[in-house]
Amino acid sequence: MDTWYQCEVLERKPLSNSVISLKLAYAASHTFLPGQFVMLDLPISGDFSTRSYSIASAPNTEGWIELCIVLKQDGAGTPYLFEDVQAGSVLKVSDAQGRFIIEDGEEPVCLISTGTGIAPFRSFIQHVQNRGIDREVHLIFGNRTESDILYEAEWSQLVEAGKLSFYPVLSRASESWSGVKGYVHEVYPKLAESNPNWIFYLCGWSTMVKETKNNLKALGFSRKQLKFELYD
Ligand SMILES: Cc1cc2nc3c(=O)[nH]c(=O)nc-3n(C[C@H](O)[C@H](O)[C@H](O)COP(=O)(O)OP(=O)(O)OC[C@H]3O[C@@H](n4cnc5c(N)ncnc54)[C@H](O)[C@@H]3O)c2cc1C
Repeated sequence: MDTWYQCEVLERKPLSNSVISLKLAYAASHTFLPGQFVMLDLPISGDFSTRSYSIASAPNTEGWIELCIVLKQDGAGTPYLFEDVQAGSVLKVSDAQGRFIIEDGEEPVCLISTGTGIAPFRSFIQHVQNRGIDREVHLIFGNRTESDILYEAEWSQLVEAGKLSFYPVLSRASESWSGVKGYVHEVYPKLAESNPNWIFYLCGWSTMVKETKNNLKALGFSRKQLKFELYD
């Protein structure tokens, strides 16, 4: 049985043209692990009123969580969240769920996502930083344009501090973009080749996740080394 809480929206802010961040009051006693998601039960028409969102902030003791949500123009849930929800609104939020948990350990991890698939990885990376965990973390992040790279300033800061290897990839880059162009598939095969002990976590829409999983399997990675979460 799901447990439900009435949670106030503490802050709503745009992260890009099509993505918002919602900071929700969420009691510290409602514990969760990096990678888990909550469901929102929304007052929308149709039989199916719940929508799942990965928690984008670290497990914390301060009584809040953050979500990042991309607008699906023809959807039922996200237009409601974008148009009708603001600071002060109250949402019905479930307990944390899911087995896509980014576990503590010693092996290097490679996190691969596109768009809002970054959410569980931000939770994990914040967790690693907050706890001072010494772990090699590689983040491959695919987007269309520069302005779609969610939380870019945070990744740059961690890269500068030598705490993260970050590989942004753009499919519709401007001419001034000097990084990798194309899809995430441009990046991981080379890294994978020389790192057979890595654990890969994949998150986002099914096309990217399934293709990446199949490619990594073909490169010799075992089931145990490949963990994934599909958003659709
Ligand atoms: C584990 C998980 C984590 C996710 N995390 C994020 C996140 O962090 N950020 C983000 O932007 N998106 C996330 N999503 C996607 C999100 O749950 C929604 O699918 C997305 O926001 C679109 O919702 P919508 O209501 O606008 O679109 P709609 O097209 O109205 O609904 C899309 C989704 O709602 C569900 N649904 C609707 N109707 C039915 C029905 N009749 N029967 C069964 N299911 C139905 C399905 O899951 C479907 O994929 C996640 C999905 C999952 C499964």
